[in-house]
Amino acid sequence: MTDDLRAHLEFFGELGVDGVRLEPEWRQRAERRLTELVESSEPVAVDAGGSAESIESTESAEPRPAESLEPGAPAEPVRVFASPADALEALRAEIGPDCQRCKLHTLGRRQVVFGVGNPNADLMFVGEAPGADEDIQGEPFVGRAGQLLTKIIEAIGLKRSDVYIANVIKCRPPGNRNPEPDEVERCEPFLFRQIDMIKPKVIVALGKFAAQSLLKTNDPITRLRGREYRFRSATLMPTFHPAYLLRNPSSKREVWEDMKRVRALLGDGADE
Ligand code: URA
Repeated sequence: MTDDLRAHLEFFGELGVDGVRLEPEWRQRAERRLTELVESSEPVAVDAGGSAESIESTESAEPRPAESLEPGAPAEPVRVFASPADALEALRAEIGPDCQRCKLHTLGRRQVVFGVGNPNADLMFVGEAPGADEDIQGEPFVGRAGQLLTKIIEAIGLKRSDVYIANVIKCRPPGNRNPEPDEVERCEPFLFRQIDMIKPKVIVALGKFAAQSLLKTNDPITRLRGREYRFRSATLMPTFHPAYLLRNPSSKREVWEDMKRVRALLGDGADE
């Protein structure tokens, strides 16, 4: 048995899985996806209805001035991008490397952590905010919790590079405190625009903060998880945060149940 396979099976064991089904169908998914991407590399046509996935309004995350909401106001111009990847890069440039839209730029954050992964992903993970490791490396979920997230992704037969990973806010709060409402208000519209560009089928909200923030509720994560919600064009599933799992390994069992459901929603594997 190779070291990789042994590590993979040990992780299934850690998640509380009693048996493993070999699903070549599931494992071939990444290759199929790549073929689809290569074959569908046509630029997206301009659509007056604004429904094509790479059409992005030039509206910024700034609150819109009241005048532009008046009836008869001139229509917003739209920018047309050849692909979600191009749209995401334009959004990254719009946010800029030294975003000053909220107070976090004065509170010790090193960089904006935009998001990472496949711009055409069917599955997206949303966490709370970058931590210390993410602030240094500029990528979400790269610390210990991130390594566990990578294992969770691999446990459903995907690679980290198949999915897209982002946070509710893009800068590290000092001392890893929770993001504050004014910070969420300024930053969250950028996450929504990322979601609208990527158009994932499924969004997994990692932990209480992301789930409550996206669903605009104070319900506890224990009530939110195990249910599915319509969110923009996706199905949103809250689950426990990987950092919580590091402290409470017995909750991996529930996360595994959630991830099996995610896999079924993606349509590439039977619910076991
Ligand atoms: N926790 C989060 O919520 N997001 C990260 O990117 C890292 C840790």
